[in-house]
Amino acid sequence: MRMSRNSKVVIIGAGVGGLTTAAMLARQGVNVTVLESHIYPGGCAGTFYHQGYRFEAGATLAGGFYPGGPMDLVAQAAGIENWPAHPSQDVMQVHLPDGAQIIRYGDERRWEERQRVFGPQSEPFFRWQEQTADALWDLALRGPAWPPQSAAEGAGLLAAGGGWLAERLRTGAGLGLPGLAVDAFSPVSRHLARASDRLRLFVDGQLLIAAQTTSENANALYGASALDLPRRGVVHLEGGIGALGETLAAALQRNGGGILYRQEATRIRMEGGRPVAVQTKKGLAIEADRVVVNLPPWNIAGLLGEDAPPRLKKLPPQPTDGWGAFTVYLGVDGTAIPADSSLHHQVLVGRPLGEGNSVFISVSPQWDKGRAPTGMRALTLSTHTELASWWELFQADRGAYEARKEEMARGMVSVAERAIPGLREAIHLCKPGTPVTFQRFTRRRWGWVGGFPQTSLFRAWPPRLMDGLWMVGDSIFPGQSTAAVALGGMRVARAVGRDLAIGD
Ligand SMILES: Cc1cc2nc3c(=O)[nH]c(=O)nc-3n(C[C@H](O)[C@H](O)[C@H](O)COP(=O)(O)OP(=O)(O)OC[C@H]3O[C@@H](n4cnc5c(N)ncnc54)[C@H](O)[C@@H]3O)c2cc1C
Repeated sequence: MRMSRNSKVVIIGAGVGGLTTAAMLARQGVNVTVLESHIYPGGCAGTFYHQGYRFEAGATLAGGFYPGGPMDLVAQAAGIENWPAHPSQDVMQVHLPDGAQIIRYGDERRWEERQRVFGPQSEPFFRWQEQTADALWDLALRGPAWPPQSAAEGAGLLAAGGGWLAERLRTGAGLGLPGLAVDAFSPVSRHLARASDRLRLFVDGQLLIAAQTTSENANALYGASALDLPRRGVVHLEGGIGALGETLAAALQRNGGGILYRQEATRIRMEGGRPVAVQTKKGLAIEADRVVVNLPPWNIAGLLGEDAPPRLKKLPPQPTDGWGAFTVYLGVDGTAIPADSSLHHQVLVGRPLGEGNSVFISVSPQWDKGRAPTGMRALTLSTHTELASWWELFQADRGAYEARKEEMARGMVSVAERAIPGLREAIHLCKPGTPVTFQRFTRRRWGWVGGFPQTSLFRAWPPRLMDGLWMVGDSIFPGQSTAAVALGGMRVARAVGRDLAIGD
């Protein structure tokens, strides 16, 4: 076994969360090595090559790039001058079962559009949602750590909360505090008591992709903030969403850090209750004073074995909630895509949402010539799916598994035709993916993606698991999305930095 003598912080996984932490720490002069099992960075927000296409594997909608937003803060902290990002105000088009369509605009057009589709009676809901999101994003971007895990994080939370409170009182927004306090313990549905079925379904569809659960269960504060993503503007990344990971990996290397691809970590070696090295499948053992794992808790438990802390040992054998993803990657004749069509669509067929009843569609921009062969476009379709039945079928009857996969892909294409008529005839290439596929490519156990559904603010996992060991990514607060894991990654970089006594 080869030993690398000078590694100090080892980060397992080059997802957006892990790379944010890595690039920031490297910028502070810390000796950082990232181990990535795949041949490129990005994980669930990666872009893969296939037959001349560049398909976005999971995430397609990238938010948080506005001045002062999460991705802007990451850029400043990691030394990134520019993201290869093209802003868009026409964020997505949502297709409702009764044939109604609503465009989610980032700008003022959103009010008229919502009134057109949901009527003036929907206004109190959207007013509540936007005001709550403004308050919460203002707090979140002051950088408090939730839930706090150390005296420094507690002090940071008090300072950020104090500044936020003072500002609200100064501007007269303090009157909203009792409502925020109630919302901290309530679901979004509290604000939908008088809503039409149409509005409720729309909100549920949007919450499912933003909070991994629907209005009956999504925490009101989290839900209001997550629903705000379109208003804060989204971008299209040149070359696909994988450009996020690539930009972060380049910053990491510029800052003096290293990244080793095709190196799957198989074991975190512990001594005296602390990690001392990370072993890989190919026989490397990288010495580590601190280890950050960019993976869900079940994977981390596997890397630690008997050395896992009690919280990881007490995990149920498999996730009891949360989701897998079923995806369909399509290479499509570009003439099928109307020139004025949104590049993102959500089609809602009915309840229960997920399992092909709600399909998210993203189309590569026409200007992004590298994403598809000439005249073609690359599409990613995805829906939430329950994990267990895929694995049962995969293990018991491979033929039945393949048949279900094909059938679900066909169903997804039919649903997508509501947004893009004539899609089926335009398909040149079709590649479906199940949770089994997601496990193969991201190594996330059972293909469990999207982290924990955001049902309670008090359910959130803090990142520090034991002395010298942190978790980063969508299993920690504030959960899933590229912007959220970037915020979590910044928090972990600060915590590790403090632990190394280099300060914030
Ligand atoms: C279908 C789908 C659609 C989504 N849509 C959106 C969207 O539109 N917008 C949005 O913002 N978010 C979206 N998300 C969520 C977003 O993709 C994730 O929350 C985010 O990318 C997760 O980042 P992460 O840091 O947790 O790491 P992950 O992306 O999980 O990355 C983990 C990395 O670790 C590597 N790895 C795993 N095991 C090992 C090991 N043992 N050793 C070394 N390396 C290892 C993996 O290869 C991977 O690169 C979507 C997710 C999915 C699945």
